[in-house]
Amino acid sequence: MSNHDESFLSSVERMFDQAAELVGIPDYLQHKIKVCNSTYTVRFGVRLRNKLYTFTGYRSVHSEHREPVKGGIRYSPHADQDEVEALASLMTFKCALVEAPFGGSKGALVIDPSEWEPHELERITRRFTQELAKRTLISPAQNVPAPDMGTGEREMSWMADEYKRLYPNDLNSWGCVTGKPVSKGGIRGRVEATGRGIQYALQEAFRHPKDIEWAGLSGSLQGKKIIVQGLGNVGYHAAQFLSQEDGAIIVGVMERDGAVLDQGGIDIDGLHKYIHDNGGVKGFNGYTPNSNEVLTSECDIFIPAAMEGVITADNANDIKANIIIEAANGPVTFTANEKLRERNCLIIPDLYANAGGVTVSYFEWVKNLGHIRFGRMQRRQHERQTLGMVDAIEEMVGVKFPQDKLEKIIEGPTELDLVRSGLDDVMREGYQVISEKWNNDSRIPDLRTAAMMIAIERIRDSYSSLGI
Ligand code: NAD
Repeated sequence: MSNHDESFLSSVERMFDQAAELVGIPDYLQHKIKVCNSTYTVRFGVRLRNKLYTFTGYRSVHSEHREPVKGGIRYSPHADQDEVEALASLMTFKCALVEAPFGGSKGALVIDPSEWEPHELERITRRFTQELAKRTLISPAQNVPAPDMGTGEREMSWMADEYKRLYPNDLNSWGCVTGKPVSKGGIRGRVEATGRGIQYALQEAFRHPKDIEWAGLSGSLQGKKIIVQGLGNVGYHAAQFLSQEDGAIIVGVMERDGAVLDQGGIDIDGLHKYIHDNGGVKGFNGYTPNSNEVLTSECDIFIPAAMEGVITADNANDIKANIIIEAANGPVTFTANEKLRERNCLIIPDLYANAGGVTVSYFEWVKNLGHIRFGRMQRRQHERQTLGMVDAIEEMVGVKFPQDKLEKIIEGPTELDLVRSGLDDVMREGYQVISEKWNNDSRIPDLRTAAMMIAIERIRDSYSSLGI
């Protein structure tokens, strides 16, 4: 559990209660939707370095109103049951909000991955997978993990391979986890998906001038000053896309061992490579050991992309950003949320903002069940049809298309094009529905409550269709 004024789980539950009251569902249903269905704690031994090490892992299933349930597995020395249950419940609401057809789940292994060699981590991950499989906590039909903090393609690949060994007759075994490398049944665009989703979410927010003006900003993302906390998978991709493609300026990056501050703009690729080579930000141009100085610096947008509980009642009033987009899960506590709202800080909530990951995971799972890459059937047909049209137009007007333009026009969409298109669509629509709800009902205090209300309404409808 992180060190802040309220536990992560109680913070999420308070946010839920606030939204559920506004939806007006009966108490018994409110309770049913709120509680976590089950949390398994597994303890298993692995013989390593001539000793038997015991590891603790969790897999929490928050809601099975839709199956399979879905949610990442994180490797962290600080993970505990409270954290995993909070994350699992956020997954339920996130999936409902972006219409990914899953219930919510989450898992964790209490481990510091930096203390282990890759071959050791592989053995630990394979043993953990066996424990999960025994309890159907990994299965294409019932529970589909994905990467989270401290895990990535490599771990997902080990898990998928172990599952395949255990169930060689399961035709859909690749669908047991998402976030796999493309060579192991993954999908193009998954690694960057959550960061890409953050970019699409901000782009859509800036297409809503009323919301942006409420937060005291105007215009577009061009030139907006951004501070990012955590330059891992999500933070790095978000910072890279926003600076390279939208003209935003990344003025601050906070990491475990300190921070980098540069009002002229930080070279994100350079810093990312530096962290990879040196294990941290220490020594990079603009380095300061005082992360707090960066957290409280002037900026337009703050992107917490590391962990939960970083903005609390204690520091909320020191944050200068006009917009906070929650790339991490639960970075702003319930009490901090109230304080920030009072001064018109627009918080784009986690259950919407970081849904890019589960959205593209959904595409990957569908690809695995379909056993065919997106775009495979229609790409050349599109090419032939467009060429036919180009021929007809050229014949009618008597002018040839310029060759470079022609190539772009006739080319059908690749898997990556389709994944980005699907993700952009989900992120645009997600923002539109929560913004509309917030703006059209004066009882709804913020985007988070609106998002939570939409998720609760959809889960309620799913229960009602079962007669509950
Ligand atoms: P990651 O492990 O790739 O990156 C986390 C980064 O944060 C690392 O660079 C780490 O050094 C840094 N960090 C850790 N503690 C820090 C601290 N106290 N201060 C500053 N930096 C710190 O993890 P990730 O996959 O990028 O996940 C980050 C957050 O995003 C988590 O909350 C996770 O639940 C959430 N998330 C991830 C995904 C995904 O697809 N990976 C999807 C949805 C949500």
